[in-house]
Amino acid sequence: MSNNLSETYRNTAYYCDCISQIKVYKSKKQGGEALNQPILLLSVIDLIAQGAIEENCITISDEAIDVFKKYWSLLARTPFKNSDFALPFFHLKNRKPKFWYLQFSDRYEGGRPQTINTLRNDVDYAYLDEELFSILQDRYQRQELIDTLVTTWFSSKEGEIDDILRLNQSFQDIAEETEELENDKNLDEEPKFYLRKSAIRNAFFRKTVVHLYEYRCAFCRLKVTHSLIQHIVDGAHIKPFAKFYDSKIDNGLSLCKNHHWAFDRGLFCLDDDYKIIISASLQEESPHATPMREFHGQTILLPNSSKYFPRLEAIRWHRDNLFRAE
Ligand SMILES: [Zn+2]
Repeated sequence: MSNNLSETYRNTAYYCDCISQIKVYKSKKQGGEALNQPILLLSVIDLIAQGAIEENCITISDEAIDVFKKYWSLLARTPFKNSDFALPFFHLKNRKPKFWYLQFSDRYEGGRPQTINTLRNDVDYAYLDEELFSILQDRYQRQELIDTLVTTWFSSKEGEIDDILRLNQSFQDIAEETEELENDKNLDEEPKFYLRKSAIRNAFFRKTVVHLYEYRCAFCRLKVTHSLIQHIVDGAHIKPFAKFYDSKIDNGLSLCKNHHWAFDRGLFCLDDDYKIIISASLQEESPHATPMREFHGQTILLPNSSKYFPRLEAIRWHRDNLFRAE
């Protein structure tokens, strides 16, 4: 790798900064929240995650429009209009620093397309910075970018927590409906099935959970943030998401990377009073930070309101199924 730092190194942090500059302005004139650019980017990232966009060539396909509409119906408060898709597709090219480019068609004669038909006439496809497209192939880097987009939605003001909770609940409701559909072996409802597997839905869960714990690790209280957007804690699922698809807030815990890793592997669990129990099998050397074992018997950090505390059923499930007592 080159050590030439005269050019900005385009890594995930660089693109998180780019994305965090997309303002979600909320004015009555604009018909409420201007969410069209973030929703378009979320849709494109999700299409990449699901393998529907394999090359760095974002066409104005029916599938792309369909995914955008699904997110629009969940996240925006106004009914979908053609221009909600056409305008951000066109205007993202003006974002600085640049990361979204357009390949115009031979028929383009200037102006900005307001409808999907004119957009299709004027533009062949959009493409991203090669570095960004390559970053989006990786699940964890993709997750960081999605989380950044979701964070730009909210200014972390008091009162916004209700909004994030509502959005998280909408995704959860769809997941539960889909579960019923699956049990009935009736998957004609493709859009709902799609959203259940979406790479986006847990971003709202993670955002809500870490916000409720004030961006601290519930185990060790560590808080490290960078420019208000990036932080060291994860919104962890207590019962694993891959098994239960449960993104209700009381299945969540805010944990730093180390303690998230240890929790998922059953190296500690919680008792019914939220006190930490450390596994007898834990082996550690921690010359410079407090060893995990010293947290044994301590109560974890909890949200301000008991209605957001982890659900006992979830912490019992983790204790009975994942915790390594010996
Ligand atoms: Zn921690």
